[in-house]
Parts: sequence; C-alpha cells; structure tokens
Amino acid sequence: MRTSQFFLSTLKEAPSEAELPSHKLMLRAGLIKKLGSGLYTWMPLGLRVLRKVEAIVREEMDKAGALELLMPAIQPAELWQESGRWAVFGPQMLKMKDRHERDFCFGPTHEEVITDIARSEIKSYKQLPLNFYQVQTKFRDEIRPRFGVMRAREFMMKDAYSFDVDAAGMAESYRKMHVAYSTIFTRLGLQFRAVKADSGAIGGDASQEFHVLADSGEDALAYCPTSDFAANVEAAEALAPAAPRAAASEALRDVDTPKQTTCEAVAALLDIPLQRTVKLIALVAGEQLQIVLLRGDHSLNEVKVGKLPGMADFRFASEEEIRAFFNCPPGFLGPVGIDRSRVRLIADRTVAAMSDFVVGANKPKFHTAGVNWGRDLPEADLVADVRNVVAGDASPDGKGVLEICRGIEVGHIFQLGTKYSQALSCNYLDAEGQLKPMEMGCYGIGVSRIVGAAIEQNFDEKGIKFSAAMAPFSVAIVPVGYQRSEAVKAAADALYAELKAQGVDVLLDDRDARPGSMFADMELIGIPHRVTVGDKSLAEGKVEYVARQDGNTELVAQADIVARLL
Ligand code: ATP
Ligand code: MG
Ligand code: MG
Ligand code: MG
Repeated sequence: MRTSQFFLSTLKEAPSEAELPSHKLMLRAGLIKKLGSGLYTWMPLGLRVLRKVEAIVREEMDKAGALELLMPAIQPAELWQESGRWAVFGPQMLKMKDRHERDFCFGPTHEEVITDIARSEIKSYKQLPLNFYQVQTKFRDEIRPRFGVMRAREFMMKDAYSFDVDAAGMAESYRKMHVAYSTIFTRLGLQFRAVKADSGAIGGDASQEFHVLADSGEDALAYCPTSDFAANVEAAEALAPAAPRAAASEALRDVDTPKQTTCEAVAALLDIPLQRTVKLIALVAGEQLQIVLLRGDHSLNEVKVGKLPGMADFRFASEEEIRAFFNCPPGFLGPVGIDRSRVRLIADRTVAAMSDFVVGANKPKFHTAGVNWGRDLPEADLVADVRNVVAGDASPDGKGVLEICRGIEVGHIFQLGTKYSQALSCNYLDAEGQLKPMEMGCYGIGVSRIVGAAIEQNFDEKGIKFSAAMAPFSVAIVPVGYQRSEAVKAAADALYAELKAQGVDVLLDDRDARPGSMFADMELIGIPHRVTVGDKSLAEGKVEYVARQDGNTELVAQADIVARLL
C-alpha cells in the first residue's frame, strides 16, 4: 500500500474525553472514530488490525475443530422468554419492537439462538460433539461505556458454543478451548494470565477468564507466584475463609443508621482493610464532588455534593489538577490507579462537611443521606463487593501467599452443563435410544477489546508498538526525497515491489513530507519495522533500518534488507 492511495489520519492531540493511553492512541493514530457513546467506526487502518486479530482467532478455532457460522444480531424475544433471561438480563440488553409490535433484542450474547439451532438440527449422539463459533457484532448497553473499544456498547466478539453427550465430553471441549485461547493470546504477542472466574451455581473449575495484564485493567486478579493458583478476586474471595466476610457485613451494618450518609459509608468502607478492592471513583470538578461506588458495571450508589462548606479545598481548575491531586498515572483518571490516601482524604473531609448537610436527593441509588442498605443498596451486592482477599493473604491452595495484579478481560470460557439445554429442551438420543439434554460450554473472546488491550500493554511516548502479528502493516518504507531524487524513488519502489511479492504487508510513504513528520506517523501507528531510503546511505549501497520495539537503528546493505525483514 502507498500512503497516497491509503487513508492516514493522525492527530497530534487526543480528544480530551480519552482517559487511557490506548484510547488516546487509537484516536490519535486514526484507528477508530467515535460516532456516539460506546459506538466506534473502525477506520481503514484500524480495521486492518482488527482483521489480523480475527484471522488468528479464526485459525486457532478452526484448528481446534470448531465450525464457523454466523447468527443474526437481532434476536426474537420468544427464545429469551423460554430461557427465562428476557426478564432478568437487565438494562444491558437493548430491546426493540418491529412494525408488528413484536419484541426483539440486539443480541448481547447467543446462547439462546445456538441452543435453538442445536435442538432442531442435532438428533443423535452420533452427531456429537460439535462446537460452533462466530465472529460477530454484539450490543450491550453498558452503563459506563469508556476506554474506547475496550468497554464499548457495540463491539466484536468471537463466541463459541460446544455440545457434548456428557460432562466428560464437555470438559474435553472446554480443555480444547483453553488450549486454543492460550495459543491465540500467545500468537498475538500479549502478556496474559488465565484465572479462575466465579462460576456461581455450577462451581468447581467451570469457568476461567483470560486477562491481558495491565495496571489500568478494570479487574483485580489474585495469583500465587509459588503455585499455579490464579483467580479473579471474586473467585478468590469465594474460595477464601468465610469469617472476614461476616465481619465486613457487620461493619456495614454499623453504618446503617439514618443519620449517616453514603459518604460516611464510603469512609467507613475505606477504613477497614477488607474494603481494599472496592472500586471507588471520586471525581471533583468545579464545586462538585462526586463519589461513585462501583461494582463491575453497576453503579451502586452515587453521591453528588455541591457547594459544601469545607469542600473549597477540593476545587480544581482542570482535569490536570485533579490528576495531580490523585497522583494518577499520566493521561488517566478512573477507578483504578488512583492514590487511595487522597480518596480517603476527600472522603474524610466530605463526611465532616456533610454533618450539617440536609438530605438532598432521595430516590433509590441516588442518596446523599439516609441510605437504607436493604432498599437502596442491596446488602448482598455490597457485601459481595467487600473483598477479603488482599496481597499477602495465604493462597487458597495453601502453597504460598497471594499477589494482586490488574487485568483486562479478553476471553472467558465456561462450562454451562445443561442450563440452557434443559430450559430450551435441547436433547439428543443416546446409543440406548434415551433422550438426554446436551452438555454445553460457551467461550467468548473480545476481538475488538483485544486491540485496545494490546496497545495498553505496548506503547511509548511516540505511540503504539504493535506486535508483528497485529500491526496494520509490518514494514514502513520511508523514502526521503521520493519526488526529488531518482535514485531514492527507484530504490524505494524496488524494495516495495520485492516485499509485496514476498507477501509482506508493506506501506510505502510516498508523501514526500518532512522526514520527521513521516517518521512520527509511522511510529504513532505502531509499524514494527521501518526502512528509511535516502541519498546519503544509498551512495554507500545501504538503507537505514529502525526497529519500533527498541528504536535500534542500523545501516543495512540494500542487498540484505529484504532477507532481514522476512
Ligand atoms: P466485562 O466483565 O468486561 O463486562 P463480561 O464478563 O461481561 O465482560 P463476557 O460475557 O464474558 O463479558 O463476554 C466475552 C468477552 O467479550 C469478554 O471477555 C470481553 O473480552 C468482551 N466484552 C464484553 N463486554 C464488552 C464490551 N462492552 N466492549 C468490548 N468487549 C467486551
Ligand atoms: Mg459485562
Ligand atoms: Mg467479566
Ligand atoms: Mg466474562
């Protein structure tokens, strides 16, 4: 590809709403463009990256024996009513009606649809096992879409569903997916960790998440460096002794008096070490302090405090000031990575300032005072949010102590058992002619989220550092004086033609812009290898090679450069 025939649209500055480095860089590099909240266009450059991720996912799914199909994004309500999830899925599901007033949803996931296919298509044990997958657009009306494509509303997921005759078969299908996922994330060049996820009613090892490790990740992970124990904190908590949980519950009951405020509760929460992983965001803008207590996607409670005496200390003129105050990593203001002692300070001052403050809003989930734990803030939710797993705790396997790190969930595999096959009568005939429910598994990968997560793990001050597997182009040829020097043009064109003939994804920057700005663009968009072609080195029969990964620069003989890049 030549830049003159392509569409590069890079920016010097990222739009201010972008918090994370990956989000900023994706916008600055012109990989994506925002259409609305949680809605992004994949621009030609970004789509090349997304397609590379997809291709690797497909290759490994195919290798594992899964069969690709493509289901509709829009799903009839009847199937969801049959599984019982129409009523319980919640506001993440975008519901709609057609012209006949029939109910539909834009699929947030496809268990119901695939189970419907299996029950009508699969009759006999002889047809099993089967694993179907698709790479498809999902919609989830996330309460707080953010971080660009990492928590979008419309996003690309690879979802697979396995069908087996018995639990042993299901475990084998699950194992194959575990292997395939590990291969996928390894091939993508990501540092990742597979962790136990809370598998709720099913129990055991029935669910694992794959996380890309990054300090800005939304999820906390507990792992034991001296054994193979690794779990997200929810799962680690479920395996930990029950006593601290009860203590936490007691502590919460203590703040259950009408006089006390949500902010006091927050302060109380911060006071006890058991609360260490409660997610707390304190946003201060102008005269408003806003504390949001979060559990996963759900905002449990939100407190807005305006014009409070004593709050003057916390007025900030700019987001930069807020960041500086919270000691946030550069470019980041969010629920993680902020200095807890600063949050504590704000919480304390808020409590003091609020002692004279009269009740404001008094509707569920929006309280400034008089929180009723049972009604407004389900105790179960809050207690579930009280983590008693912290760094230094004994590992549940007894083989060492736990460390805590953060991750971005990019994959999730799950043994479902007969949950959906029973609800939707998805049965097969076994060798004895008996009707039995199929044993199912489901396996998701956040294909679009991976792009953001990979950048979150691989960037520097110049921009993105894509692995060769994901880069939109693997080689950039930057001729200096393309329109002015016959020798440069000839050498650059010849190299371009040769690399193309070898099947290399090569971008020839024929804009003949200032070298510095061409270099900056190629670095920003994360191309792993750059070859600079200029009169000076050509006179010695050489070109300049620069590796994006470490910035190492080398003069390479023209005759050797192609071999070097392959
Ligand atoms: P999360 O905990 O981040 O909300 P989830 O557990 O709800 O994710 P799953 O139902 O397990 O998500 O879906 C499979 C995969 O789809 C996830 O592992 C994640 O990589 C991806 N995914 C889920 N929600 C989003 C989203 N809003 N934007 C982008 N990718 C997403
Ligand atoms: Mg979710
Ligand atoms: Mg999750
Ligand atoms: Mg998940």
